Amino acid sequence: MIGISIRDLTVSFGELKILENISFEVQAGEIVTILGPSGCGKSTILRCISSLHNEYTGEIYLNETCLVNNGKRECNTDIGYIFQDYALFPHLSVKENIEFALYKLKSNEKKEKVESLLKQFDLEVHANKQIHELSGGQQQRVSIARVLAYEPKVILLDEPFSNLDTILRNKTKIWLKKMIKDLGLSAILVTHDQKEALSMSDKIAIINNKKIEQFGTPFELFENPSSFYVANFLNRVN
Ligand code: ADP
Ligand code: MG
Repeated sequence: MIGISIRDLTVSFGELKILENISFEVQAGEIVTILGPSGCGKSTILRCISSLHNEYTGEIYLNETCLVNNGKRECNTDIGYIFQDYALFPHLSVKENIEFALYKLKSNEKKEKVESLLKQFDLEVHANKQIHELSGGQQQRVSIARVLAYEPKVILLDEPFSNLDTILRNKTKIWLKKMIKDLGLSAILVTHDQKEALSMSDKIAIINNKKIEQFGTPFELFENPSSFYVANFLNRVN
C-alpha cells in the first residue's frame, strides 16, 4: 500500500538551490531513511513535508491524495513530527504536554486517551512531573506519545537518537521500529549516521549534491553502491 509520496521536491534559499527533484515513496509500515552529511538538506525535506517550510516546487501525496502542491496545502492531514530537541513545553507536566495534542477531544475522551498513552509509553509514574525532571529518553517518549495522540498516518523523525546514550539508543530503536510496524505508519527518518540508517531502515535515500544519489534497501546499497560516494559514505571503502 502506498503511504506518502514525495514528487520532484526542489528547494532554494534565495539564489541558492539546496535540493533538486527529490522523489521517493514510503509505504505504510515502512521506514525510509534520508541519509547524508550535515547541511545537505535533510531537515529541510521534513520541514517541507510538514508545511513548516512552504517555498518549494513539487508535490506531496498521501495514498494518491495530493496534500501539498508547490508548497500550497491542498488538504489537511495530521503528520507527526518528532524534533531533534523534542520541542516539549518545559513549564507543563508530562500529562499536560500530551493533553495539549488532544484539544479537539471532549474531556472524558481526552482523559481516557491520555491514560492509555501514558500506559503504552511506560510513563504513568511520571505523569505529573515537569519535563525538566525527566531524562532524555523519557522526554523523547513523551514527545512520541504526544505526536501519536493525533493518530497520524505519517511520522517524521529528525535525528531522533542523537541525544540518547548508547544503551538507551539501542532500546529506543527496537521499540520505535516495532511501533511503526504495528501501527502501519509511514516513517521518514533523518540521520547522518550510517550505522543507524543501516539498522533502522527498510529503504535508504542517500543525498549528495542536492539529489538522491541512490535509493534502495540497506542490503542493496551496501552490496551494490552505485557510486564511489555511496560506497565511501557507507564505509565500504577504506
Ligand atoms: P541538514 O538537516 O541536512 O543538516 P538543513 O536542511 O538543516 O540540513 O539545511 C540545508 C542547508 O540549507 C544548509 O546549508 C542550511 O544552512 C540552509 N538553510 C536551512 N534553512 C534555511 C533558511 N531558513 N534560510 C536559509 N538557509 C537555510
Ligand atoms: Mg538537520
